[in-house]
Amino acid sequence: MIETIPFLSLSRQNESIRASLDQAYRRVMDSGWFILGSELEAFEHEFAVYSEVKHCVGVGNGLDALHFLLLAYGIGKGDEVIVPSNTFIATWLAVSQSGAIPVPVEPNIESYNIDPRLIEAAITSRTRCIMPVHLYGQPADMDAINAIAKKYNLIVIEDAAQSQGALYKNKKTGSLGDASGTSFYPGKNLGALGDGGAILTNDDAVADKVKKFRNYGSSMKYHHESLGFNSRLDEMQAAFLRIKLQVLDEWNNARSNIAKKYTNLLKSSKLVTPSISDSAQSAWHLYVIRSLNRDKLKDYLAQHKISTVIHYPIPPHLQNYYQEFNKYHLPIAEKLAKEVLSLPLFYSMNEAEIERVAKTILDIES
Ligand SMILES: *Cc1c(COP(=O)(O)O)cnc(C)c1O
Repeated sequence: MIETIPFLSLSRQNESIRASLDQAYRRVMDSGWFILGSELEAFEHEFAVYSEVKHCVGVGNGLDALHFLLLAYGIGKGDEVIVPSNTFIATWLAVSQSGAIPVPVEPNIESYNIDPRLIEAAITSRTRCIMPVHLYGQPADMDAINAIAKKYNLIVIEDAAQSQGALYKNKKTGSLGDASGTSFYPGKNLGALGDGGAILTNDDAVADKVKKFRNYGSSMKYHHESLGFNSRLDEMQAAFLRIKLQVLDEWNNARSNIAKKYTNLLKSSKLVTPSISDSAQSAWHLYVIRSLNRDKLKDYLAQHKISTVIHYPIPPHLQNYYQEFNKYHLPIAEKLAKEVLSLPLFYSMNEAEIERVAKTILDIES
């Protein structure tokens, strides 16, 4: 019997660090302290150092991280925020939650990241912020984005949920704008064993505001100074993330090697394989190919017990919730939604699996 190749196996990934995770669980369990304690403080410090920024503030998830940053900068009703047209829905939802309006800008067809050449045309007198996404792990063109932001006096908030460890001109993503939001959802490169997220910034005031937002608008118990939420990165997840952070670069390297092998093995195919800019080092959150026969290819791989996922099948502007955007014509986002397919990619995936995926694709795409 031929074995299934999963799209992502969290249990296989975690096997190599299982003893450390078990130890972390026991340490937190024995401490009897589960929310806002020393594990979170240690992780925040370690991730800030890793990310080359002054502050990391842990929150409940990536969506809250982005939402809290918009609130911290006073962005809300009557404001516009520029977002990519081809991102995960959370980027848009964070903007909508703040009361501001997401303004979609199409991606570059090679990098799949927001195209800086199209941003200026989308700026109005109400634009306050650009929220680039480092999609699939590849850094967006931040120098160009920051130059536009400077010219129009806009805030730049990076959505770094898919790019932990990725480099842009040798600098960590998440450290390249005014602030960034990231996610520790289990499937991300730096994934917890549950939900989690964080903001990164060099701005003391923004870090302080997010610390209040996450904890009922309070920095001192029973004193409430701002609007509040309950969205903390808990001690157990922080303890697990401290271990995951130690292996992040090693796991990203392994992902990069798998990606290189795919690209090499698929050279002779009709597919479009990922193209990474010279100034970027991708975190390879996803290995996304494009095919004009995407659905057929996905079915064929499934028949051969290879799991794939589409990131993402429906762009935000065509979602039911975003009805007022349904009339927008965003041809690149719509084309990508029809053609993209993410291949299995995870730390500990073996050579034989990589070759079987590629060989099966070549059956019908060469
Ligand atoms: C995962 C993700 C988020 C949201 O993170 P959660 O922790 O799931 O809330 C935001 N933006 C992008 C691009 C993501 O991939």
